[in-house]
Amino acid sequence: MVGTAIARELARYRLDCVLLEAGPDVGAGTSKANTAIWHTGFDAKPGTLEARLVRRGHELLGEHAPALGIPLERVGALLVAWNAEELAALPGIRERAEANGCPDVRPVTLQELYWREPRLGPGATGALEVPGEGILCPWTTPLAFATEAVAGGVELRLATRVEGIAPEGSGEPRRPMGRVPVDQALGAHELATTAGPVRARWLVNAAGLHADELDRMLGHDGFTVTPRRGQLVVFDKLARPLLRHILLPVPTATTKGVLVAPTVFGNLLLGPTAEDIGDKADTASTAEGLAGLLARGARILPGLLAEEVTAVYAGLRAATEHADYQIRVHAGQRYACVGGVRSTGLTSSLAIAEHVVGELGRAGLPLHPKPSVERVRMPNIGEAFPRPYRSAAAIAADPDHGRIVCHCERVTRGELLAAVRGAIPPRDLDGLRRRTRALMGRCQGFYCTGAVASLFAEASGRSMAEVLGVPPSRSGAARVRGGPARSRGAAT
Ligand SMILES: Cc1cc2nc3c(=O)[nH]c(=O)nc-3n(C[C@H](O)[C@H](O)[C@H](O)COP(=O)(O)OP(=O)(O)OC[C@H]3O[C@@H](n4cnc5c(N)ncnc54)[C@H](O)[C@@H]3O)c2cc1C
Repeated sequence: MVGTAIARELARYRLDCVLLEAGPDVGAGTSKANTAIWHTGFDAKPGTLEARLVRRGHELLGEHAPALGIPLERVGALLVAWNAEELAALPGIRERAEANGCPDVRPVTLQELYWREPRLGPGATGALEVPGEGILCPWTTPLAFATEAVAGGVELRLATRVEGIAPEGSGEPRRPMGRVPVDQALGAHELATTAGPVRARWLVNAAGLHADELDRMLGHDGFTVTPRRGQLVVFDKLARPLLRHILLPVPTATTKGVLVAPTVFGNLLLGPTAEDIGDKADTASTAEGLAGLLARGARILPGLLAEEVTAVYAGLRAATEHADYQIRVHAGQRYACVGGVRSTGLTSSLAIAEHVVGELGRAGLPLHPKPSVERVRMPNIGEAFPRPYRSAAAIAADPDHGRIVCHCERVTRGELLAAVRGAIPPRDLDGLRRRTRALMGRCQGFYCTGAVASLFAEASGRSMAEVLGVPPSRSGAARVRGGPARSRGAAT
């Protein structure tokens, strides 16, 4: 999210830019697994960089999301207190909201609360309305930023992990614990990557959970990322009528707490947990975590427990020992570190990009604007906006928009083909899912994985084994060259 937003911002200037991503796709790190709330920043610590950038990010995303095709719904939030202590905290939260530039946060009587959310559990002691909070699509957002960056001339290199960084001509790339004098003047940075060396005069580190490791390669030691895992439960679309707003808890010093929220895909979300763990790859859900969430959910919205769970997932926040983002530009090194973007980066991404590029300019990066900037519009995958299967005009223009492949999410053959042939095509089924919603419905791909994978293989010229991620020794499958009947056969 953060790296693609910065690349998009840099694409406005006459620069040669390359975006390096370790994974097979953009947006497949923490950015794909979060709560997807468009935060106002009402509860941030006033005076922090995070408070300022979340507020500005809320404004920028609200302005740009419609044109970029990012599904965003202004549903508003109700922050609910459940005991006397939480009730006593509400005036302080309101004062903090005012300090953060959110004067519209206001108290709500219990009568109004239950009138607006009739299925809320009994026992609420008070509430605040936060009208500016909303929900957005965490998958389209980084894809839109990256697509616009690429359209603006940024070179995207996927499956390219940075493993060492050295000043030009110095020989050995620095390894994580290497030490060099801070602010040493550099000709250029030489990056050792899994896909060969890269030379860069200026370097931006937006490596999320691994930003501290890269920062150490540059000789700094300002922060350590301790992943804070958040587990979430997704309820089926039939649960959606249970609520109208985002239902927020009273936040604590370490977490925003467990909320219930609608998603732009028409589901309900319960979560997240907040667990500090040691492993930067441990996105497992746990029985204990899910049980805790369900108990909390039963209190907030008792009807939830009667609803079907569609999926569970977990994401890792890049938490650090500091209570603020770790964003610093080292002019002497021509280096920007963008770390510690923990719980709010989806919202603040555009503001972080604006801030970082401004700071890079002040540090000496020549920012000469291009005469024009190419804008893109992503295909809509949100429930509240037009989808091709509902449009007679879209179907008349391309009959493939009338052919549904994933029936739970009503994803058409036309949408799948457009994604596979897009500017940043998916490399695996997970990437296709994040571009189209295919496989993410109530059957979780039970019925349509074969058809979707077959179409993906056929349209991309890749083998079924590659598409399904089956090891070569087990696949025995040839590259799909035949028509649809043969591809379907290969999928079953
Ligand atoms: C449970 C949870 C709930 C959240 N809820 C919200 C919310 O409701 N609203 C909100 O605004 N924010 C929310 N967030 C926060 C938001 O998701 C993050 O702040 C944001 O996604 C961080 O984006 P990022 O680009 O910094 O990190 P990432 O998405 O992790 O991106 C970093 C990228 O760097 C790549 N990388 C790492 N090391 C290297 C290397 N050595 N070389 C090359 N590439 C590398 C990774 O592969 C990755 O793709 C939540 C987070 C979690 C975990």
